[in-house]
Amino acid sequence: VEKLVTSQGDIKTDAVFVAVGLAPQTEFLKNTIELDENGYIITDENLCTSKDGVFAAGDCRVKELRQMITAASDGAIAAVTAKKAIK
Ligand SMILES: Cc1cc2nc3c(=O)[nH]c(=O)nc-3n(C[C@H](O)[C@H](O)[C@H](O)COP(=O)(O)OP(=O)(O)OC[C@H]3O[C@@H](n4cnc5c(N)ncnc54)[C@H](O)[C@@H]3O)c2cc1C
Repeated sequence: VEKLVTSQGDIKTDAVFVAVGLAPQTEFLKNTIELDENGYIITDENLCTSKDGVFAAGDCRVKELRQMITAASDGAIAAVTAKKAIK
């Protein structure tokens, strides 16, 4: 890229990083479990949602840090919580 044409004018550049953004795919859960204003699933620390027997893990839930390691950690916690729930 030598010239990037933007709404704010032309920018001379060698490269561009495209920010894809973050949008949780939780539309189908509307009116089923509690979501925040951005569509992220609200959970407690054991990853229970507002509905009994429904758990959430990973980037789709309200949390501070969305990374591979926190998603994996969520998966472990949600699995243990779910196991306890069905005992
Ligand atoms: C550009 C970018 C760079 C990143 N770089 C890093 C990095 O360097 N290090 C790091 O630790 N993290 C990084 N992350 C964050 C990391 O990718 C996420 O935190 C992690 O992948 C979250 O895992 P997840 O399983 O919660 O969600 P995802 O990995 O998003 O998996 C969700 C899956 O569910 C599927 N899905 C969605 N809706 C449905 C449905 N209705 N039915 C069935 N399947 C469905 C999706 O197709 C997807 O496969 C990056 C993210 C992005 C976008």
